[in-house]
Amino acid sequence: MHLTDAHSRTPEDCLAALDAAPSGLTSAEAARRLDALGPNRLPETRTRGPARRFLAQFDNVLIYVLLGAAAVTATLQHWVDMGVIIAVVLANAVIGFVQEGKAEAAMAAIRGMLAPRAATLRDGARASVDGADLVPGDVVLLEAGDKAPADLRILEARGLAAQEAILTGESVPVDKTPEPVAADAPLGDRRSMLWSGTLVTQGTARGLVTATGETTEIGRIGGLLAGVETLSTPLVAQMDHFARWLSLLILAVSALLLIYGHFVDHRDFGEIFMVVVGVAVAAIPEGLPAVMTITLAIGVQAMARRNAIVRRLPAIEAIGSVSVICTDKTGTLTRNEMVVAAVETPEGAFEVSGEGYAPEGAVTPAGDLARLSAAAALCNDAALRLRDGVWTVEGDPMEGALRAFAAKVSPEITARRIDAVPFDSRHRFMAVLTDGEEGRVVRLKGAPERVLGMCPDTDHAAWTARAEAMARRGLRVLALAERAQPGPRIDEAALEGGMVFLGLVGLIDPPRPEAVAAIAECRAAGVRVKMITGDHAGTAAAIAAQIGLENPARVMTGADIDRLDDAALALQVAGVDVFARTSPEHKLRLVAALQSNGLSVAMTGDGVNDAPALKRADAGVAMGLKGSEAAKEAADLVLADDNFATIAAAVREGRTVYDNLRKVISWTLPTNAGESLVVVLALLAGLALPVTAVQILWINLITAVTLGVALAFEPSEPDAMARPPRRRDAPLLSAELVWRVAFVTALFIAAVFGVFSHAIDRGHSLALAQTMAMNTLVVLEVFNLFVIRNMHGTSLTWRALRATPVVWAVVATVVAAQFAVTYLPPLQALLGTRPVPLADGLVIVGVGAAFFAIVEIEKQIRLGPLLTRPS
Ligand code: ATP
Repeated sequence: MHLTDAHSRTPEDCLAALDAAPSGLTSAEAARRLDALGPNRLPETRTRGPARRFLAQFDNVLIYVLLGAAAVTATLQHWVDMGVIIAVVLANAVIGFVQEGKAEAAMAAIRGMLAPRAATLRDGARASVDGADLVPGDVVLLEAGDKAPADLRILEARGLAAQEAILTGESVPVDKTPEPVAADAPLGDRRSMLWSGTLVTQGTARGLVTATGETTEIGRIGGLLAGVETLSTPLVAQMDHFARWLSLLILAVSALLLIYGHFVDHRDFGEIFMVVVGVAVAAIPEGLPAVMTITLAIGVQAMARRNAIVRRLPAIEAIGSVSVICTDKTGTLTRNEMVVAAVETPEGAFEVSGEGYAPEGAVTPAGDLARLSAAAALCNDAALRLRDGVWTVEGDPMEGALRAFAAKVSPEITARRIDAVPFDSRHRFMAVLTDGEEGRVVRLKGAPERVLGMCPDTDHAAWTARAEAMARRGLRVLALAERAQPGPRIDEAALEGGMVFLGLVGLIDPPRPEAVAAIAECRAAGVRVKMITGDHAGTAAAIAAQIGLENPARVMTGADIDRLDDAALALQVAGVDVFARTSPEHKLRLVAALQSNGLSVAMTGDGVNDAPALKRADAGVAMGLKGSEAAKEAADLVLADDNFATIAAAVREGRTVYDNLRKVISWTLPTNAGESLVVVLALLAGLALPVTAVQILWINLITAVTLGVALAFEPSEPDAMARPPRRRDAPLLSAELVWRVAFVTALFIAAVFGVFSHAIDRGHSLALAQTMAMNTLVVLEVFNLFVIRNMHGTSLTWRALRATPVVWAVVATVVAAQFAVTYLPPLQALLGTRPVPLADGLVIVGVGAAFFAIVEIEKQIRLGPLLTRPS
């Protein structure tokens, strides 16, 4: 059941063909059709099956090198070495496989969270439904910023235009009207239709669903709209690149080593070849990119758990480095649960009682508020509904509050709406034309200064003062006005200077308590919070003080911003935290001005016009609940709950992910370098090898799949939100990190050679000395893990030592594996190990402890005096 020729038929004809009415379907009928026709969803693009995904892990130059080495090893009949190399390859493939699965699952879950909703008419009333539940015959309400949720025949439109690039490739918005077009008009010229997935760029519309799911135009061309991008970020790409170059370098060095060992040092080719293979395999950080991706995937999941949906992965890095957050007020810092508390009319001032959206309460003192309440109720798109004993709003909460207020004043007011000018944050008012008992009347509500400007017979100065007094109480102030107007359309020009002022309404919108806490947290983290609102300066300043912004008193308005050129704005912007009466265009200039001060900016937005600012910001954040599809599409991050506290949580998670990436790197590099250099140095010095080739391969295998992955799961360090943001352009391989890697590598080498020569001195066999050296390497890696877990603090706190279940699980695995290869005869035969006597075992652990102490002391010196740091 879908209409393919709706564009050429009249709206009435289409309604009849789909057995539908302008007031929408009944819930029962919609459910019946949904059952028969299936959900309004496009089929998922088929992902690769598990077998192909697993095989794809082997398609990598490094793996080819390892497989080549395994083949040569086999021809030399070194079966054990070959087995270990194959095990390394398999382990790596398994890690890659699991990591990809995890990442894909994380992304798929997020896609579910971004599922759009649609405003429809069901049972004659406005209802918000899941986009997947739409059926042909449903009537959908759309406004600027919405995405058409299905193919729609336009029934009514006002100033409507849509951007259809995904279907037609044309990026200039197309004007849309309900007039039928020629039956053979091409897709782009069917102006009476809105196509599923295209974006309403301006105006409002009422549309009849004519096709859903696969029968829509977008469904037929099979274009799936990817909700989230693929799994890489600049840092991972940078590391991937680094790892490749490093691997090439390692291969070149290995080749030289082979030549040197065989031709200069005259070692047996088979033996030297195995040693070089061991060195190369140990040195190549083959698992690093995979572990970094796991770290990111875990970060994505952690953020999603806290209601922050990452749309573009680089946002994880960006959000952790922001130094300024520019946020909306209404609904983000405040609850967006409004209630009318005060009213002022030419007759006097009134207080309104009652809670929530219940239409129960009293206005004191008594007075004639009939015209004011009629305007509040009619110039209104919201509906109130009693659900499980609680009154809730369908639509804008502020309009819901106006409806509740009107109901407190007088019983239901009915009049037929003929025309409307929708609210737009640029002109800051909304008007409707209705036909009722008193004839045709335009009723209007909007920002006081805007409405007063349309009402010539009113004392502007006095009313402005009264509006400001209300705003200073933290109330959101609206002015209402009306005038009689014959004729079928609102004449916008006649509104200016032709309206009769009715009065002011003040609404309470309490701050979110969790936003207050989150702002304090951001301030401690060196992140400055700025409020950018369309609201009145007085209201903005009052709320800013309530929620604890740094400088709530100084307010810059949109008009102030317009007076400044870019350079002057850049000079002033840093010290101002409250921007009021702004339009979306100002947001773009503010982002640019802040960025020109070297700040890294997160910017929130919800409307279609916010999209450019969201794109320009270092981290664009869109509202998941009240945000338009346009804003969500432009954003890097979507807040599922529209809550400021979620941004602060995302900053914390972003910092944690970045820390963990650095931890993964700073554990992996010295491990690889230490393992391989021990052998290289011995070769070059012509000494006996402290660890054999197969032992190196073994260590590389066992530690890479355990210790190497553990750091990806690290929770936030306690000081994650107590230090200033990192510089956005700070390189991952900072001087500090390089120093750490070098320092730890040197200690590794010293410790391994120390233990090895100690063993030889005590008269132990070469095999036992090698077993001890191998165990020393592993013990050092375990201790290094504990040092690195707390990169920014001390590792000697109870919390640090207690660690996480993941850490203990991997340490237990490694310890068990080492005991097995050291003491179990079959494994001793394979790896050429000997049982280590208890006393020597204690020496090894003692060396590890000494290493821990040295590195920890070095860290404390580098971090600064212990005593001045908060624990
Ligand atoms: P924020 O940017 O923090 O969400 P806001 O919601 O107050 O702020 P806008 O939605 O741009 O910003 O509203 C700006 C002003 O326009 C409001 O202060 C109010 O005076 C007026 N206004 C808002 N919504 C409506 C509406 N539906 N009808 C008429 N006027 C409105």
